[in-house]
Amino acid sequence: MMSIVAVVGRPNVGKSTFFNRLIQRREAIVDAVSGVTRDRHYGKSDWNGKEFSLIDTGGYVKGSDDIFEAEIDKQVELAIDEADAIIFMVDVESGVTGMDQEVAKLLRRSKKPIFLAINKVDGASRVNDALEFYSLGFENQYNLSSINGSGTGELLDDLVKAL
Ligand code: GDP
Ligand code: MG
Repeated sequence: MMSIVAVVGRPNVGKSTFFNRLIQRREAIVDAVSGVTRDRHYGKSDWNGKEFSLIDTGGYVKGSDDIFEAEIDKQVELAIDEADAIIFMVDVESGVTGMDQEVAKLLRRSKKPIFLAINKVDGASRVNDALEFYSLGFENQYNLSSINGSGTGELLDDLVKAL
C-alpha cells in the first residue's frame, strides 16, 4: 500500500501551492464520505525513489475562500486517522495564530509523525521570524518557501524516511 501524507493547516498558509509544486498527477477527488472528503485533493508524488499519495485539505468549498474552524478540525481528525505522516503548514508572515494553536493541540494527541512546515520563508530575512513557531512544540520544524521551492528538499528527505 502506498503511504499517505496529508497537508493540514488553516486557510492561506500555502498548502495548495505546496501540493501543486509536488504532485506529478492529480488523482480523482475521492468522495467516499460525502461532505467530508469533498474538499480534499489527492495527488501522487515521489522523493528519493519513494512514492506517496499526497492530500491537500481545505479551501475547495465552492463559493467560499474561507472554511469554518470546525471544518479544519474535521480535516485534521481525518488526517490523523488516515495519513501515515502529516505536514502541518503555518505561515511565517502572520506568525503563530490562535487557529494554528488549535490545530497543534489536535495534532499533538496523534502518534503519527508530524512535520511542521513554516511556509513563506522566501529569504534569509524571515528565518528569525520562524523561531517563534517552536512554541507549538514540534520537534521536526522546517523553514521553506512553496513559491521558490527552497527548503522543501530538507522536509521531504526526513518525511520519506518516516514512511
Ligand atoms: P492554502 O489556503 O493554504 O491552500 O494557501 P494557498 O496555496 O492558496 O496560498 C495562499 C496565498 O499564499 C497565495 O496568494 C499564495 O501565492 C501565497 N503563498 C503560498 N506559498 C507562498 C510562499 O512560499 N511565499 C509567499 N510569499 N507566498 C506564498
Ligand atoms: Mg488551498
